Amino acid sequence: MSSVGKGVAAASIGKILQSKGYRVANIKADMYVNIDAGTIRPAEHGEVFVGEDGIEADQDLGNYERFTDQICIADNYITTGQVYQEIIKRERNLEFDGEDVEVVPDIPKEIIRRIKSCQKKNNSEITIIEFGGTVGEYQVLLFLEAARMLKLQQPNDVFFILVSYLPTPKLLGEQKSKPTQYAIRTLNSAGINPDFILCRADKPVAADIKRTISIVCSLPQERIISAPDVYSIYDIPVNFEKENLGEIMLKAMNMEPRTKDMKDWTAFSEKIKKLKKEVRIGIVGKYFNFKSCKDTYISVIESINHASWNFDVRPSILWLDSEKYEEDKNTLNELDGVDGIIIPGGFGRRGTEGMILAAEYARKNKIPYLGLCLGMQIMSIEFARNACGLKGANSEELDPETPYPVIHIMEEQRKHMKESNYGATMRLGAYDCNIKEGTQSSAAYGKNKISERHRHRYEFNNKYRKEMESKGFVLAGINPQKNLVEIAEIKDHPFMIGVQFHPEFKSRPLKPHPLFRGFIEAAAKNKQ
Ligand code: GLN
Repeated sequence: MSSVGKGVAAASIGKILQSKGYRVANIKADMYVNIDAGTIRPAEHGEVFVGEDGIEADQDLGNYERFTDQICIADNYITTGQVYQEIIKRERNLEFDGEDVEVVPDIPKEIIRRIKSCQKKNNSEITIIEFGGTVGEYQVLLFLEAARMLKLQQPNDVFFILVSYLPTPKLLGEQKSKPTQYAIRTLNSAGINPDFILCRADKPVAADIKRTISIVCSLPQERIISAPDVYSIYDIPVNFEKENLGEIMLKAMNMEPRTKDMKDWTAFSEKIKKLKKEVRIGIVGKYFNFKSCKDTYISVIESINHASWNFDVRPSILWLDSEKYEEDKNTLNELDGVDGIIIPGGFGRRGTEGMILAAEYARKNKIPYLGLCLGMQIMSIEFARNACGLKGANSEELDPETPYPVIHIMEEQRKHMKESNYGATMRLGAYDCNIKEGTQSSAAYGKNKISERHRHRYEFNNKYRKEMESKGFVLAGINPQKNLVEIAEIKDHPFMIGVQFHPEFKSRPLKPHPLFRGFIEAAAKNKQ
């Protein structure tokens, strides 16, 4: 079922096999007809993860990048929509030689072609393909058929891993394996028998349950692996290795481990459990009322984690609803209780006046502030209004009638918007940025030429550069090709940086992002 932890399991397997000396790649296959995740509401479906090449993908690609430190591109992400679009395009080009085009086998064949092409591009020896959704679901059938056909083509190269959930009903207090047994049977009816089963449960699976499952799917017991709830997701590869998953998998594939080294990772996962000192980070935003902020802001949360752990502090994240500040300004004093404030990315007007109030509070009270994309635009609007006297300054996105559009639509975006051409048309992916010497950003990065990933339609309006600079707004980072403001800072503030890009996509557990490091360091100091 969804949210059972397939993404982190796939990422962990990648990590483990990589640590045994193999080149790995991860693929996410999503069942929806969307071409990419760019048009899907993150509050319900999780963050849109942006790749170097500008792909707007499922958040699982973020897990893959964080665990294996590899770069994912469009090839690492397959959707039903992409597959059909390609087949229909080829049909229109007369590439089927007068034959009719059939859902089976033509759709599974295209899925296989994509898998192989990703493997080739990544030059991977082992490719881990995660199928989203649930066994037995209608929309997953064509992907299972592709998997079955791939196994038929290369019987010794293809292995199946089932991630299954074992509930512990409260009244019984014991784990039940029946849902897993049914999942195996359902998979069998698609012509597939799992080679490994990862048992997701609150506790490790008992020996007798492993025995039962192993009989149902005719597998040796060592291939039934516990995947219990953990303190942090970074424990998962370590836990799998406690049951020797890496070697058991390699043995099944007739391969030998080449190296053995997950020491850094294991030490890191141990360390974070022991941290006591706390740093309190307030995230001011508006997408907090759906089921969970955890998925919507996963890369931001993980970046805060990585940077905090790096300084041996444990982050405590507070979700602060900006609309509250609009109703009652007095509620802003809750910001005195946090050590640092982040305003993350977002779209649309709702809640933005409250964010502007929060940015003002952070500037005047010298609370460390990090603005991510929208958070940079908010910081610019606030400064224009309150430090430069540009009353009513705003972003054209939030108030099309504003007298001072300090944030305005990018020229090439105007046409897209007019034609309702929304899919994959934002400014997406990696762009260069030159950082000014002597700025907070330059100190944080420790270098002056960087590249970061973007996802936005609006930008800082160069018309206001001079006026804002003269009042202490620092244009710290500029895109050299198009002369766009990518980083803004506030002078004489311990740490107030807004970036037009999304640094959160490039933070790794053992390599925290420089801006998050700088921000957390300032927050920890602020606490003292
Ligand atoms: N809505 C803003 C824009 O399109 C910010 C986007 C974001 O935060 N990712 O420019």
